[in-house]
Amino acid sequence: MAIKPQIGLEIHAQLLTKTKAFCSCSSESFDAPPNTHICDGCTGQPGTLPKLNATVVEFAVKAALALNCHINERSSFDRKNYFYPDLVKGFQITQYFRPIAENGSLLIHADGRKKKVRIRRVHIEEDTGKLLHSPADRPECAFIDYNRCGIALLEVVTEPDLDTPKEAHAFMETLRNTFRTLGICSGDMEKGALRCDANISVRDTDRGLVTARVEIKNVNSFRFVEKALEYEFERLKAALLSGEKTVSETRGWDQGSRSTVSLRSKGEENTYRHFPEPDLPDIVLERAWIDRIRTTIPELPMEKQDRLMEQYGLTMAEAKTFLDEPELETFFVAAVGQGLPVKAVKNWLLGEIQKTLKERALTIDRTTLTVARLAEIIEWIATGKTTTHIAKTLIPDLLENDISLEQLLSEKGISRINDSAYVIEVSKKVVEEHPEQAEAYRFGKTGLLKYFIGLVMKETKGQCDTSLVQETIKALLEGNNIEG
Ligand SMILES: [Zn+2]
Repeated sequence: MAIKPQIGLEIHAQLLTKTKAFCSCSSESFDAPPNTHICDGCTGQPGTLPKLNATVVEFAVKAALALNCHINERSSFDRKNYFYPDLVKGFQITQYFRPIAENGSLLIHADGRKKKVRIRRVHIEEDTGKLLHSPADRPECAFIDYNRCGIALLEVVTEPDLDTPKEAHAFMETLRNTFRTLGICSGDMEKGALRCDANISVRDTDRGLVTARVEIKNVNSFRFVEKALEYEFERLKAALLSGEKTVSETRGWDQGSRSTVSLRSKGEENTYRHFPEPDLPDIVLERAWIDRIRTTIPELPMEKQDRLMEQYGLTMAEAKTFLDEPELETFFVAAVGQGLPVKAVKNWLLGEIQKTLKERALTIDRTTLTVARLAEIIEWIATGKTTTHIAKTLIPDLLENDISLEQLLSEKGISRINDSAYVIEVSKKVVEEHPEQAEAYRFGKTGLLKYFIGLVMKETKGQCDTSLVQETIKALLEGNNIEG
């Protein structure tokens, strides 16, 4: 039996324009005191007229081009009418009948494969204000902050092409990275700069049954959207299997109980009675202008990921890490550009270095580690002057101190790495202290070699070159002459 979810997303992205969509108030008001970035226009005073910010159109076209959309040379604005305290005008300006762009697609990587997700439409609209319910000092009150009113939003609506919650997560991440690369949205979900509504229905392809469509609203992280969708899939699947009737409704994610809760059924929803916005002219775009914008589109994340894989032989996951951590990628490209071996550089960057950076919540550009120092590490290991094991223990110091390996090793008293006399001394002691095991080795239990190597490494605190230790122990156990 095949029971599958069918998921579509609606994403609202706040555009990084300096001013709002239809007035000259600043858009950069997240941390500003309430109601300090407002004017007669964005608070809907009678007699004021909206005036479209040209940068909003430019950003929308950039997004549409990156999403491979058909751009409508003529699009227009409409009013979506409803009453809510955060919507001071009583309507929201949006593009309902003729959006700026439609029929696009975005390529995502999920579960180790590529997938094309169709985009139904991209349109411009304005943001609403913010309500603050029952603050600690005035629990009986609700406050309204209109600073956000009229900030430009871009809404991206997908077709229900996403087959798993993981794919939904990958889509949002790819879209955010794309918008960040374009410089049109900060993608900061905690500040509400990117918001996602997800809709899901579950179908039983064998029996031809499908559940009602549920919308999950106002989830403020990609991980929670994925969790909410996983929860909703299981809930709807159980209903489908037991024959229980499902209802079309809007639900929210409750992180406390790790479940979704019903907010309202679709029957209670507003009918918005959209009609054309009489105060704004149509947006008319010339092909030549669109083509000029096209030339400003930089290499997009998915293209970059493919290029990194091809150019450096990276796996999809490795390329993805560099995509998510641009500082690490810059370092990688610089190191490889200076002739360091790709394999060693990526192993260090994506291994011990990234691990230590994560532990310290740092990015590599904010540390003292340089390409020259990494080159030194790689060379010292290659020539046997130190071991990978020792070098790993030095990483935390190298991120915090601009100090040469030579200096660091002597400061730490680690210097006997390639000292064969020292290795022989310790090895002899270890063999003498374990005569029974040495005897057993000579009688054919050659697996004990590892045991002896382990004892020497322990004794020398892992400071010796493993291959030298192995050679020495083997020679000792087999009675060969090893005086070095
Ligand atoms: Zn204003």
